Amino acid sequence: MMISSLGPPRNHTVSRSSTESEYRALAQAAAEVVWICKLLRDYHFVLAKPPCLWCDNVSALALASNPVNHARTKHIDMDYHYIREMVLSKWWKDLDFANKLPFARDRVVEAYFWALAIYFEPEYSFARMVSAKATAIITVIDDIYDVQGTYEELENFTEAIERWDISAVDQLPEYMKVFYKALLNFFTELEESLTNKGILYRLHYAREGFKVQVRAYFQEAKWFKQKYIPSMEEYMSVELYTSFFMVATVSFVGMGVIVTKDSMDWVFSEPKILKASSIIGRLMNDLVGHKFEQKREHIASAVECYMKQYGVTEEEAEVELTKQVNDAWKDINEEWLDATSIPRPLLLRILNFARSSEVLYKGEDVYTHSENVLKGYVVSLFIEPVPI
Ligand SMILES: [Mg+2]
Repeated sequence: MMISSLGPPRNHTVSRSSTESEYRALAQAAAEVVWICKLLRDYHFVLAKPPCLWCDNVSALALASNPVNHARTKHIDMDYHYIREMVLSKWWKDLDFANKLPFARDRVVEAYFWALAIYFEPEYSFARMVSAKATAIITVIDDIYDVQGTYEELENFTEAIERWDISAVDQLPEYMKVFYKALLNFFTELEESLTNKGILYRLHYAREGFKVQVRAYFQEAKWFKQKYIPSMEEYMSVELYTSFFMVATVSFVGMGVIVTKDSMDWVFSEPKILKASSIIGRLMNDLVGHKFEQKREHIASAVECYMKQYGVTEEEAEVELTKQVNDAWKDINEEWLDATSIPRPLLLRILNFARSSEVLYKGEDVYTHSENVLKGYVVSLFIEPVPI
């Protein structure tokens, strides 16, 4: 297995020497290698030999093999030494959600795959890791709302998320306490990383992104309690925020200086391209997921909402919703072609979320039922070399 990192990183750090820059690139790449090895272990793949990491900078290699702090390198943050060993590869295992929250989907492999679909470029290593973590975490939140929580528990959990303070943990049942502490810890880690990068202002947006999504989940819980089937307009106004809103916000948080406060505000201004991308995500997910979800008692999906509102059959609703997905793609094309004040590398993330739906929700929900199709994608990407 070979992973390349095109150091020095171009976007997300400012380095004061070429050694530092190369070393940071090396550390980032190493972190990804460790992470991917862990993913492979999760899928019970054994590597025949240890992965190779290539680097042509002699000073960086010397530092990597003997990371002592001498006069010329002591300013390199220790987190780059730390990150490759601890934060990424051990994070999920240490959370131990598989044992502590057995009702929830354990989707760290799939979340990383998804993040990779949003940014494949080596320089977005940090952003990719943050996105993967946020996706794995929001998957658990989704299951807390859909699978495990009683209405009263969800009411308290939603309030705790709004307060975003460890003292709010007292009002939660044990399993929610475990999760809530983990969520706050994730943000504490993120705060440290963003502080080191001089972009702490983005933390607020990431937190708000989570809050917005949780509010939408709670609205779903209300509808479910009332056995209420909303109109398509009501449904989509909420579901746009259970689709790609939070992950789009977080996808910007980890990027480099190309992201500004204006870019973060733009995500929160309901831009057409994000709306279209979210429509694609929500409707494609509902089209393939609604039969499974209705079996386990779930809020009405877009299919049921459309059927009720327009008095049509399931097949007719599916045809119409597929048409709405196609229309949303036209909106994305239009926005992409239009000149915009938002830099292309940022718009590309939003586009990639829509593209990811065509991989994860085409024909079936391979994110939830990941054992076949998605496993095959992981094997193709990380294990089997591309024949040249
Ligand atoms: Mg849900």
